[in-house]
Amino acid sequence: LGRHDLDDILGTIDEEVRQRFGEGKVADYIPSLADVPRDRFGIALALPDGAVHEAGHSRERFSIQSVSKVYTLTLALEAIGEELWKRVDREPSGDPFNSLVQLEYEKGIPRNPFMNAGALISADVILSNFEDAEATLLAFMRARSGNPDVGTDEVVARSERESGYRNVAVANFIRSFGNMDNDVQDVLDFYYLQCSLRMDCVDLARSVRYLADAGHCASSDVQVTTAEGATRINSLMMTAGTYDAAGDFAFYVGLPAKSGVGGGIVAVVPHVMGLSVWSPGLDEKGNSLLGRYALHRFTRMTGLSVF
Ligand code: GLU
Repeated sequence: LGRHDLDDILGTIDEEVRQRFGEGKVADYIPSLADVPRDRFGIALALPDGAVHEAGHSRERFSIQSVSKVYTLTLALEAIGEELWKRVDREPSGDPFNSLVQLEYEKGIPRNPFMNAGALISADVILSNFEDAEATLLAFMRARSGNPDVGTDEVVARSERESGYRNVAVANFIRSFGNMDNDVQDVLDFYYLQCSLRMDCVDLARSVRYLADAGHCASSDVQVTTAEGATRINSLMMTAGTYDAAGDFAFYVGLPAKSGVGGGIVAVVPHVMGLSVWSPGLDEKGNSLLGRYALHRFTRMTGLSVF
């Protein structure tokens, strides 16, 4: 695939997606997400040599929401390594992202790091192991994206806090089993903050590129995680990164991916590229409907797939 081919493919996908603007339902549990227009679509890919290809609204920022769980998992693994797997499992859940049920019979051990319950474990680990968790996360995202302007959205974080009854329940439930060390509210506040990160598709494609390059971040020339760490995070994204639609994602897209209710999705073609798509209308499982369509088209047109 030449550079021009990639640009042509992204341009074609952008045109196709525009015909379908209006499909999907924008997340409406907080006003700042509900207000985002549906006629938006961006796509970007970042290659290990630093090149970026993009189309559509690829420079419009959005709330990355659960996409952040990839990065907090990376930080939690950096902090405590294999110990993390004593506190969170590696199985797909088949249940919604904010599910409580499995926690009861699995005694406070979340099924995987990408459910809210699992992300709360990563947050707890980060709070325990870095002096300033918030500054650590921001520095991480800025270095991975190469964009010093990456920041969080106070309004989104506050609204999440005001409406986060389910997350409060999940965190307290985990704490009741003894699988949380920090104050529940501190863990929740950090979780809401990570969800409120605002980035665009180019930022996110660059930020996920280390998972396509054996753990090496080209933006900052830093070894973010080991090659094995990258492989493992990719495997978790494949089996659990797209809510309870991970099976369908593997079937139609065939790439490790992590989505968020802001309509963003990051995906990885191991050893080849980091990818990001964004379109705010969601399908019934909470994945960006047109984002998923775009990734499906991308892998069909390029023949790229981990299978
Ligand atoms: N802030 C959202 C929540 O915890 C994240 C949802 C998501 O993107 O999956 O409910």
